[in-house]
Amino acid sequence: MNFCVALGGNPNAGKTTLFNALTGSRQHVGNYPGVTVDRKEGRYVQNGHEMRIVDLPGTYSLTAYSVEEVVARDFLINECPRVTVNIVDASSLERNLYLTIQFLELGIPTCVALNMIDVARGRGITIDDKKLSRLLGVPVIPIMARSGYGKKDLMAAVETVAQVPRPQPLRVSYGRDLETAIQEMEKVIAGGNFLTDLYPLRWIAIKYLENDAQILEKGREKDAQIADRLETITRKVGAHIEETLETYPEAMIADHRYGFISSMLKQGVVKERHDENRLFLSDRIDKVLVNRFAGPIIMLLLLMGLYQFVFTYSEVPVAWCEGLFAWVSDLVSNRLPDGLLKSLVVSGVIDGVGGVLGFVPMILFMFFGIAVLEDSGYLARVAFMLDRVFQIFGLHGSSVMAYIVSGGIAGGCAVPGVMATRTLRSPKERIATLLTAPFMNCGAKLPVFALLIAAFFPHSRAGMMFVLTLISWGGALLAAKLLRMTVVKGASTPFVMELPPYRLPTLRGLMIHTWERTWQYVKKAGTVILGISVLLWAAMTFPRLPPSQIEAYDTLRGGIISTATPQVIEELETATKAKLLSDAATELKAAVLAADARRAGAALSHSLAGRIGIQVETISRWAGFDWRTNIALLGGFAAKEVIVSTLGTAYSLGSVDTEAAESLSARLVVEPGWRALTAWSLMIFTMFYAPCFVTVVCIARESSWKWGLFSMVFNTSLAFFLAVMVYQVGTALGY
Ligand code: GDP
Ligand code: MG
Repeated sequence: MNFCVALGGNPNAGKTTLFNALTGSRQHVGNYPGVTVDRKEGRYVQNGHEMRIVDLPGTYSLTAYSVEEVVARDFLINECPRVTVNIVDASSLERNLYLTIQFLELGIPTCVALNMIDVARGRGITIDDKKLSRLLGVPVIPIMARSGYGKKDLMAAVETVAQVPRPQPLRVSYGRDLETAIQEMEKVIAGGNFLTDLYPLRWIAIKYLENDAQILEKGREKDAQIADRLETITRKVGAHIEETLETYPEAMIADHRYGFISSMLKQGVVKERHDENRLFLSDRIDKVLVNRFAGPIIMLLLLMGLYQFVFTYSEVPVAWCEGLFAWVSDLVSNRLPDGLLKSLVVSGVIDGVGGVLGFVPMILFMFFGIAVLEDSGYLARVAFMLDRVFQIFGLHGSSVMAYIVSGGIAGGCAVPGVMATRTLRSPKERIATLLTAPFMNCGAKLPVFALLIAAFFPHSRAGMMFVLTLISWGGALLAAKLLRMTVVKGASTPFVMELPPYRLPTLRGLMIHTWERTWQYVKKAGTVILGISVLLWAAMTFPRLPPSQIEAYDTLRGGIISTATPQVIEELETATKAKLLSDAATELKAAVLAADARRAGAALSHSLAGRIGIQVETISRWAGFDWRTNIALLGGFAAKEVIVSTLGTAYSLGSVDTEAAESLSARLVVEPGWRALTAWSLMIFTMFYAPCFVTVVCIARESSWKWGLFSMVFNTSLAFFLAVMVYQVGTALGY
């Protein structure tokens, strides 16, 4: 076999020395076309393979900032060497690997020659080449180019690499904002087959973000329209990043590449006699924050602190919001005549959507806290620390980010979480992550928890949220382990998490990020949730009671009133809320209300949703759910916030005491059949049952419909099992 081998690396890494050691006198010096950069070529023969060896110009990067970079890149693309030997100076590994990452991102078959190990050793640096090789996914061979040590091993590795198929390009994750832009750009690029004959999809997108002059120019020549769209996306995300993080895409990309390297080195690749003064600030902070012992404790304390902050400061504004909606509900129900319209507006719209919107202040505080953790770079460290734990459960370090985005810190969303699993290269780990990430406590489950916590555990809100978070992580990990031992068996793959330097978040950036996400929540409540809420109201209202029954209830009510004296009726009609009623009047009022409640209850159970809920009750009773809760849970499949809005509508339709329109949580507390254990069971079920509809579609799109359906069946079965366990064991223990 004849093939071409390129030698690439930073200037002074030892390319020419290695080149000479390999080719001896059989060299040929020329120029790269059009530029005055030396091009040296030679031959190396091994096991009957003849290799054409080319010494590339030394570069630190593969952008298009210098002639050398363009020459090296063009050679790699146009002449497509079978193998590229990346010569790395072991004594300054971090800086050298920056180029390595870019070779790998370009998807070229690479073999790393770890050169100058004598110099490294002299400085007290030892490098675990096996580990580095595993993390990079390419052979890493220690050599000393000057003495020729390791040359044979290196060339044997080159031969092996030459015989395997080209690797998949490496994916470094560039943070939420850039990743969103990259995804959007990839669609545009793939749609137009734009330069994809030359470069990997993702790489083109990244080069646009880096403002790579050469690619921009090639793009415009190739297809001005697509180039325009890509440049627009680039400008938009650039402006956004400038505004929120006060940096620009190129810098962010470099930060994340270095973050990737830094994380690899922190996983024990390098053992170094440390000179503390040489450490950068980020490294010094990391000494504490990702410390093996202190790190996890600090992480849990921060999480608890965040919840404490959120619940403490949002309590008052949430109460205001609830008060506001109660007031509006009161106002409208006093103005509108009794009937369908009033029922729709009060029970369907205000009590439904209001219940969801009432939690906006809490959501806002939560998003603010998350923005601080994310913008400062701390979230990446959380993923880094949890990687070891995740491996035990058959997951991958990248799964951590997917979990966090999905609501690992309460308040995320499973849709971007599911998309974040794209960074996982092993399909099995990916499926396991896809299926379990929706167990996290997304922003839609948050109001459900907040409602039940406010009703039944008002004195330990943050503590409850903290416990729920631990339950969701524990449950997700155990479920993942179960899946990895059964339906998606297979070995786990090594992982590198980007650890970009810490940065002080700007207030402006935090505000923008918080507002963007809060607005999403509000918009969803005003559109999707409103629509579903109205639909469910209809399902809970129709078919209405048959006239004969209505008449029977009217007669009953009339009968009760007719037993009262005219004075008492008069007293009730003129009474204002504040005035104390006589005993007789109070008794009459209670009797009338009870009759009305019985009628409303009968109407609700006669409705379509009521009938379904009652049917399901025969099994759901094991978990402590009554038929109203069943309706809410069915609706929750559309979107989990709907659980709150449906309970709001159901208890609003069932109750007639509009004078005392109180918050839903207050209603639940006094409702017979509801107690703390019911709340626990419902929270566990809500946490684990089928992902919402949008997430299922997303899972299906990321894998297949088989897995989409599987997630619904598996998750719901698991959730029901857990809820029944909680309820039955709790009941047996007397709770
Ligand atoms: P290039 O810029 O990548 O072509 O690097 P060179 O091949 O010109 O090497 C740069 C310097 O590093 C030269 O002085 C080499 O002698 C020296 N060098 C190369 N390999 C080794 C090695 O393994 N150990 C040591 N100590 N020096 C080396
Ligand atoms: Mg040289």
